[in-house]
Amino acid sequence: MKTFGYAAMEAGSDLVPWSFERRAPRANDVVMEILYCGICHSDLHMARNDWGFAQFPLVPDHEIVDRVIEVGSEVTKFKVGDNGAVGCMVDNYCQTCKHCLNGEEQFCCEGNTNTYSSPDRIDGSMTRGGYFKHIVVREEFFCTLFEGLDLARVAPILCAGITTWTPLRRWNVGPGSRVGVIGMGGLGHMAAKLALGLGAHVTMISRSPAKRETAMEIGVDDFLVSTDETAMKAAANSLDLIIDTVPIQHDMDGYVPLLDIDGTLVILGQVGAMGDISTMPLVFGRRRVVGSLIGGMRETQEVIDFCVQKGILPKCRMIRPDEINDAFATLEKSDIPYRFVMDMAALQAPEVA
Ligand SMILES: [Zn+2]
Ligand SMILES: [Zn+2]
Repeated sequence: MKTFGYAAMEAGSDLVPWSFERRAPRANDVVMEILYCGICHSDLHMARNDWGFAQFPLVPDHEIVDRVIEVGSEVTKFKVGDNGAVGCMVDNYCQTCKHCLNGEEQFCCEGNTNTYSSPDRIDGSMTRGGYFKHIVVREEFFCTLFEGLDLARVAPILCAGITTWTPLRRWNVGPGSRVGVIGMGGLGHMAAKLALGLGAHVTMISRSPAKRETAMEIGVDDFLVSTDETAMKAAANSLDLIIDTVPIQHDMDGYVPLLDIDGTLVILGQVGAMGDISTMPLVFGRRRVVGSLIGGMRETQEVIDFCVQKGILPKCRMIRPDEINDAFATLEKSDIPYRFVMDMAALQAPEVA
């Protein structure tokens, strides 16, 4: 199927209109027309090849809301006309290893197929993401969206939502939990909303006092300015879990003492060297610093359902597909406490000569 949208033709270049042939659907595939896609900070990292494994031409995006237009002969869960959503994975190799059986396909022993810039497990073609008109996905990697949802605001749940949900569940956040969130971008604001939805006491931690108002709008209980030494000292030992969403390398030493004994700081955003981290507050407080990677398909459906049940939706700013490069430029400059979401109804088909 010939399809069209936006791609980065080489590392660091602007995204430009492009078209290519999507692979033909197989018996267990669903073919979809894309309605909305959220713009994740990792799209920007990948378009610049910051992590060294991007394949060009690159079509980013793994926060996709779509409508089924065709199903393979063995598909049982979906029919033409259904709405659904695709997140960070579109397939994986085995679904029989201990991680797949445990519902954590993101750690599959055989490797998984990411929504973009991964080789397809059967024909080796490169996967390409959602800045496009159509996508083909294996049935098990397509999530159900229930009636009545505001489809335009669902997309960010598929990466920002699940990435922050997994550690909240892993570390049993619920009523009485004291959760800190570092960084108030797409991930950070979602982490705060989900933790509040679970009944936790939430502290937003930011370098900038100017972000207090936005944090309070989200509904957090406390706001802590990380450059205020007195306030940071006063907040020592006050948190059970810290979700660190900052997408670039940064110093974490100042945050670890905020954890109580047995507290955990979870790194979600930064990939690369941790730099100098003092072991003193780890040893003396039996504190942990850990990483976490997206989430499995069961938990992805779970967080969508939780958002429906609690009426939690990400803050979104809608843009047209031809505004994508401006959105990237804004994302690069600073955290924005919302997600850019592309309305794909405005995507122009290429002119046929
Ligand atoms: Zn993402
Ligand atoms: Zn597996």
